[in-house]
Amino acid sequence: MRVMKFGGSSVADADRIRAVGEIVCQAAQEGPVALVFSAMKGVTNSLLEAADLAQDGQGAYRDILRDLRSRHEQVVRELVPPGDTGGTADLVENLLEELSELLHGVSLVRECSPRTRDLVVSFGERLSCPVIAAYLTSRGTPAEWVDAREMIVTDENHGSALVKSSRTSQAIAGRLHGVTGIPVITGFIAATPQGVTTTLGRNGSDYTAALVGAAMAASAVEIWTDVDGVMSADPRYVEKAFVIPDLSLQEAMELSYFGAEVIHPYTMIPSVERHIPLWIKNTLNPGARGTRITRESPETDHTITGIASIENVALINVQGGGMLGIPGIASRVFGALARAEVNVIMISQASSEHSICLCVRETELHRACEFLRQELRPELESRRIEQFEEQPSLEIIAVIGAMMRGHPGIAGKLFSALGDSGLNVLAIAQGSSEMNISFVINREDRKAALNVVHDAFFSE
Ligand code: ADP
Ligand code: ASP
Ligand code: MG
Repeated sequence: MRVMKFGGSSVADADRIRAVGEIVCQAAQEGPVALVFSAMKGVTNSLLEAADLAQDGQGAYRDILRDLRSRHEQVVRELVPPGDTGGTADLVENLLEELSELLHGVSLVRECSPRTRDLVVSFGERLSCPVIAAYLTSRGTPAEWVDAREMIVTDENHGSALVKSSRTSQAIAGRLHGVTGIPVITGFIAATPQGVTTTLGRNGSDYTAALVGAAMAASAVEIWTDVDGVMSADPRYVEKAFVIPDLSLQEAMELSYFGAEVIHPYTMIPSVERHIPLWIKNTLNPGARGTRITRESPETDHTITGIASIENVALINVQGGGMLGIPGIASRVFGALARAEVNVIMISQASSEHSICLCVRETELHRACEFLRQELRPELESRRIEQFEEQPSLEIIAVIGAMMRGHPGIAGKLFSALGDSGLNVLAIAQGSSEMNISFVINREDRKAALNVVHDAFFSE
C-alpha cells in the first residue's frame, strides 16, 4: 500500500482538488492506496484566528466563519454531484453550524482553553475530507472519509499531543480494514482514550500519514505539497535553492526541526522504525521525481545538505563571575525551564563556565525568565549571577548534513562567509553528532545570512 498525504496547498480550491483527483485515480489503478488530507489552505490559521477573536469577545469571528462557509460551500457546489448519496452537502452544513455554535459559546464565556482550541481547529480537516471523498467517488474511484479521531490515540497535551503508538497502530489497522474503497483520512487530528479531540501540532498531517504508513506496513509514504521536494533552503528566501534528490531520515529530521516546514519532524519517526521510504512530491508538478528520504545517508558532492531557519526566537544569557564552578547550575536552569514548559531550542556554554546561553521562542521568553528568576533568586540577590540578558527579535540558522561529520573546515568557511558579509553572529552551537551547526543572528539579517551561507557551500 502507498500512503499519499496532500497538504493544504494541494487542496486550496476546487481546481487544486481536481488536480489531486488526477494523481489519486492514477495511483489507485496501480495498487492499493490510503489518503491523508489537511484542511484547505489557510483554514487552520483562520480557525485559530476566529477562536482568538471569539475569546476576546470580538464579533469579527463571524466574518471568518462567513468566509469559511462560502469557501466550503463553493467546493461542494463545484465538486459534489447533485446525485451524491453520501449526504455530503448536509454534513458540511451541519459541521459549519456546529462550529458556529462552538465559537458563539467561546465568545459568551470569553475563554478558549487549549482543549476547546483543538476542537475548533479540528473542523478544518473534518470539513475538507468528506468533500474530497465524495468527489473521488463521483470520478469513479470509490472513497470513504475516515475521522482520524477513531484511530489515533494521544495523551492530553492539547496543541501538540503525544501519540500512543501501539494502540494507534492497532486501531488504524482495525479501522482501515473495514473500509470499502479508498480511505480518505483526516490529517492532524486525534483523540485521547476518552475521545476528547486533540491535535498533533502544526503541519501534523505529515505525521498522520507516517503513522498510517507504519500501521499498514506501507511500501512508501508520499507527502504531496507545492514544491518539487525538500530544497537546499527555504525557496521563499533563497532564490538559488534547489531540490535535494536524496536525504537521510536523520538529515530530514534536523532540517524540519530547524524550520523546514515542508515536513513535520515527527514524520520520520515511524518510518525509521519500519524502514518505509518517504517521498516529498509536488502536486503541481507530479512528473518531477521529488525527494526520497531513507535510512541511508546518500553520497553527495556537497559538504552540507541543507540550511534551515527558525524565526522569532530570543536569547537568554545567564552569566556572572560567581557561576564559575558552582555545581548544579545547569541542572537548576533547565529544571526551571522544564517546569515553565519552555522548550529550549539551542544551548551554548563556553568552557569558562562564566555563562550559559539559551535560545527559546520569543513567545515563551517572559515565562522562561520569570521561572529562572524564581529559581536563581539567592544567586541574583548575592550578585553571583547578574540580571539575565534578554535579546528578542532573533533567528536561528542551522547548517545541516551527514557529510559534515569528520570534515574539517566547515565552521571556518561558514563564519568567514558571514564575517566577510558583515553579518553579526550572536551565539553558536554544534551538536556532537557533527551533523548540525546552528547560530543566532538578528531578525533583519535572515535573508542575507541564508543567501551568503547558501552561496558559500553550494556555488562551487
Ligand atoms: P502543505 O500545505 O503541503 O503542508 P507547507 O506550506 O506546510 O505545505 O510546506 C511547504 C512549504 O514549505 C513550501 O511551499 C516552502 O515555502 C516551505 N519550505 C520551507 N523550507 C523548505 C525547504 N527546505 N524545502 C522545501 N520547502 C520549504
Ligand atoms: N492543517 C494543519 C496545519 O495547517 C495540519 C497540516 O496541514 O498538516 O497545521
Ligand atoms: Mg504542511
